[in-house]
Amino acid sequence: MSRDFVYSTSPAHIVFGAGKAATVGDWIDRIGARRALVLAPPHQKADAERLAETLGARAAGVFAGAFMHTPVDVTEQAMDVVRRTAADAVVSLGGGSTTGLGKAIAYRTDLPQIVIPTTYAGSEVTPILGQTEGGRKTTVRSASILPEVVIYDPQLTLGLPVGMSVTSGLNAMAHAVEALYAEDRNPVSSLMAVEGLRAFRKSLPGIIEKPGDGEARAEALYGAWLCGTVLGTVGMALHHKICHTLGGTFDTPHAETHAIMLPHTAAFNAVAVPDLLAPVAEIFGGSVGGGLWDFARTAGAPLALRDLGLSEGDLDLAADIATQNPYRNPRAIDRPSIRALLQAAWEGRRPD
Ligand code: NAD
Repeated sequence: MSRDFVYSTSPAHIVFGAGKAATVGDWIDRIGARRALVLAPPHQKADAERLAETLGARAAGVFAGAFMHTPVDVTEQAMDVVRRTAADAVVSLGGGSTTGLGKAIAYRTDLPQIVIPTTYAGSEVTPILGQTEGGRKTTVRSASILPEVVIYDPQLTLGLPVGMSVTSGLNAMAHAVEALYAEDRNPVSSLMAVEGLRAFRKSLPGIIEKPGDGEARAEALYGAWLCGTVLGTVGMALHHKICHTLGGTFDTPHAETHAIMLPHTAAFNAVAVPDLLAPVAEIFGGSVGGGLWDFARTAGAPLALRDLGLSEGDLDLAADIATQNPYRNPRAIDRPSIRALLQAAWEGRRPD
């Protein structure tokens, strides 16, 4: 086996542990900031206000308008608040949508970011920003987008509803599965991917049984860090391309789309790279796609694209878009096989 690889580490500070959100004020000082604007979605406004209160003079204010897919007009509203309050840092409290808003501000201003993630999406450890304007989603990658500090505090995830915990966990697992066959993978990214998958295999059943279980929550958030890190380090392929197409064209919900597609895209690619995906079969049992599907079904995840409001006719357009521009994937992609894969996912069939 050849051992050629490039390995680069992320310059971010990762802080992990129950209660660690209380250290956010210290981190504002450590990164040399004085007044941070606290960001959150409307749903988590009260949490953001409580956090701002504990920060006292270190808080420049709260902007609780973060929205899915980082719409540019919302970013403009937040930028007005940044200017008005003379904030010199942002603290993003919430899931991938809030992290996206913090990244969008940092991309425009280079302000430092402290992220406190409350889902398993993984955006907090990537230098990637997806934003939408006029219904079009564009993606940029830049060093200024990577958050400087991430505080993973499992206590803040105790209230993440079970259904969202499951779909968000499967979303994270998809980063790890694709990292295992990424062209630019390295020994460390593969170790992290396998460990991330193991963490979710272990923790999600515990969360379903007891959503307030601190240990299971910590294990899942640990998995989220690992899976997010590989997403930010190596290139993604078919799975992310299809989910991006479905979300961008039909506005299907992010985590649910990933959850439904993962067993199908993994089964498709396992034909070409069985050895690289062997850890997935080992962790989840059975075949790669079948094992992931069984795990998702037992966890109560959505299994069929038709349940997300997609019509069978939509699959033709999705297959066209997903195969329009060539991209790297371990198994050759052609329209008929992607159309068939989408059909199976639409019907909710178990892949072999
Ligand atoms: P989200 O941030 O939209 O959150 C979904 C809902 O969950 C929100 O209403 C939020 O208020 C609520 N929520 C979050 N944490 C909670 C908690 N602990 N308790 C109760 N409710 C809680 O969803 P997401 O799946 O985390 O993120 C999806 C977005 O992130 C998408 O826009 C996606 O494109 C983006 N993303 C980007 C990257 C990247 O690297 N750029 C990576 C992954 C995801």
